[in-house]
Amino acid sequence: MVRKIDHIGIAVRNLNEAVKFYEGVLGLKVAEIEEVPDQKVRVAFIPTGDSEVELLESTSPDGPIARFIEKNGEGIQHIAFRVDNLEEKLADLKSKGVRLIDEKPRRGAGGAMIAFLHPKSTFGTLVEICERK
Ligand code: ZN
Repeated sequence: MVRKIDHIGIAVRNLNEAVKFYEGVLGLKVAEIEEVPDQKVRVAFIPTGDSEVELLESTSPDGPIARFIEKNGEGIQHIAFRVDNLEEKLADLKSKGVRLIDEKPRRGAGGAMIAFLHPKSTFGTLVEICERK
């Protein structure tokens, strides 16, 4: 079962500049900044009530976020829904014919287990499913 929108992933060119906007202009507060070498990203988590904004800056020109920005410019890159049991959810989605980018859960930023669904199966939005203990 999907609990809520866990976070919205936003691709930015410059994390420090984007953080200035979220903190200085919107008045939000970064909870944590983390590098995920696997994904070639540096991530800032910004809690907004019950959900978070996840700002993503590429650490390499060939990373997925760099490629996303090259193609689409900066902006919303994915939406993450939180579930209680990610493995179960993936099996369920697969049985319903949803195309999975990640067949198995993998470790994402912030200690969450995550998996992405293919936008071709989700009406054009890159969807992340995540589980947090
Ligand atoms: Zn995410």
